[in-house]
Amino acid sequence: MARIDLVEVAKTFGATRAVDRVDLVIPHGEFVAILGPSGCGKTTLLRLLAGLERVDEGSIRVDGALVSSAETHVPPEKRNVGVVFQSYALWPHMTVAENAAYPLRVARVPPTERAAATHDALAAVELDALAQRLPHELSGGQQQRVALARCLTAKPGLVLMDEPLANLDMHLRERMLAEFRAFHARSGATILYITHDQAEAMSVADRIGVMQGGRLVQVAAPEELYQAPATVEVAQFIGVASIVPGRVALGTINRLCRVDALGLTVQAQTASDLRTGDGALLVVRPEAVILGDRGVTAVVQRSAYLGGRFLIEIEADGHRLKAYADRRVVPGERVGVSIASAWALPGPPLPQRSLPHGSTPAGKRFEIA
Ligand code: ATP
Repeated sequence: MARIDLVEVAKTFGATRAVDRVDLVIPHGEFVAILGPSGCGKTTLLRLLAGLERVDEGSIRVDGALVSSAETHVPPEKRNVGVVFQSYALWPHMTVAENAAYPLRVARVPPTERAAATHDALAAVELDALAQRLPHELSGGQQQRVALARCLTAKPGLVLMDEPLANLDMHLRERMLAEFRAFHARSGATILYITHDQAEAMSVADRIGVMQGGRLVQVAAPEELYQAPATVEVAQFIGVASIVPGRVALGTINRLCRVDALGLTVQAQTASDLRTGDGALLVVRPEAVILGDRGVTAVVQRSAYLGGRFLIEIEADGHRLKAYADRRVVPGERVGVSIASAWALPGPPLPQRSLPHGSTPAGKRFEIA
């Protein structure tokens, strides 16, 4: 187990600020996923932690010991860090056991100790029965488990995983995610897991750091990211969300406010100090949209069957909302809509013409108590 402290870490390639002043503390034994779109700097962050890149600014400490700063650079082999890459990078001519033992051989660990550590690592990923096979005799998932075992033989305090499931099919991914969690529980290692797949990050990590344009925008438990996103981008990146502009009808009191939007007055939670009359953006999750006879009238635009229910897109007051329907609805159909709960972020002031009350039919306004 290792504790990791990143302070104002930055890395620039030419004109690209790949990692931009990242602060992150990972306590001993935590499983953290770094989630973000392609090019946001995830891999660079991992490479900085592994010691495969030098930082330009800031510092990285492992268990309090400085490993990276503008003046200091501890090389990768001295960091007690294991890395699992997207491509398994196994030696094709070596057996499973030889591949797993490779880092120990390079480190000149004596054969008996090496054999014991390799056996433990292969048992941890349930590959002991296949120890004598060659990589081409294994499935993709098994090959990835060899890569995991190879990273474990050195008993690293910190395991870095860079999109380790990117080359696997959906079913195998789910099994491997369960295995990663089990491995984490057994080993107690601190894990940093890089992915662009939010479902993967949410199912596997204790906390998720959302990265955008080199910056760590929000670091929080999956449910907090979902319920209380710090920005519109985080809201849209995590799960399904509709973003609706509105005007604050009652400013923040105890993290609650009321916002006029879509011709409704919606009670919303917020972390912002919103004042009455301010512009606001409501993050509305589909399960908070209630369809029925009450509320404002919306017109169905699209409908997709998800199994058990439909994800539909409706238009109300000129804005689109995603909702779940438990029966088939067809484009053009009119439905009543109300909103049970939402998350409010500061937004631009609403132009006068968008005043919710003036733009909706009289009597259609719905107040949520
Ligand atoms: P992906 O998910 O596509 O792998 P990523 O989030 O891991 O993306 P990085 O690989 O960290 O992103 O890249 C961040 C930015 O830094 C990108 O704009 C990339 O082009 C740039 N970059 C990364 N490595 C280098 C390099 N060695 N030289 C120049 N630019 C680089």
